[in-house]
Amino acid sequence: MGWKENLAVVRDKIEKAAARAGRCPEEITLLVVTKYITAAEIKQLVDYGLREFGENRIQDARRKQEAVAGLTDAVRWHFIGSLQTNKVRLAVGNFQLIHSLDRLPLAEELNRVALARQVKVPVLLQVNVSGEVSKHGLAPDAVLPFYARVQTLPGLIPCGLMTMAPYTSEPETTRPVFRGLRLLFERIKEEFNPGPHWRELSMGMSNDYEVAIEEGATIVRIGSAIFGAEEEG
Ligand SMILES: *Cc1c(COP(=O)(O)O)cnc(C)c1O
Repeated sequence: MGWKENLAVVRDKIEKAAARAGRCPEEITLLVVTKYITAAEIKQLVDYGLREFGENRIQDARRKQEAVAGLTDAVRWHFIGSLQTNKVRLAVGNFQLIHSLDRLPLAEELNRVALARQVKVPVLLQVNVSGEVSKHGLAPDAVLPFYARVQTLPGLIPCGLMTMAPYTSEPETTRPVFRGLRLLFERIKEEFNPGPHWRELSMGMSNDYEVAIEEGATIVRIGSAIFGAEEEG
């Protein structure tokens, strides 16, 4: 199957998972992860009407953004990969949302560059709910104190939480990870009264997005289910 057929399958599964959970499919953003494809291929996606793209490497992201920029200014780019502090200047002002804020020095540098450029940076706090050592993200215990610090930085807009579940052949086993993220999201809402920006739960990838939607995902990040498990391009 080509990507259009795969995309239709994914959209159908998103609708069905939303229906099972009594949710509107419109509440869920399908973030198309374009790290597997070239800028020329992304142009085809734009022509097809897709508008939300995610990249995990900053230089690739910037190159693809430039290649696509002439087509429309309606594209919304998300940065989903781990961000080195010395690459912050490449990220600030160039993304709808940065999903991977996971440490204080990064928060402070994003804030510093944002203030210098007089922009605000919408961010998600990345949480390592499962505790896998190979994964980035804050330990669940650290999330509330970290939020308390981030909230004081005027250049940042904290919009919610992001996690990656461990890869598994049995997606159902990821449910406690997604539920754990949602509970942290709710606790922050109760304890800090963060306001209307606090609304995103970025969770669920090709392998587990249906479970994530049942557990409240507002953004699912999907690459290989659409493009096949190709090499990154
Ligand atoms: C690559 C990537 C995805 C997409 O993964 P697939 O399994 O290909 O859907 C989602 N989130 C992050 C952070 C990624 O790096």
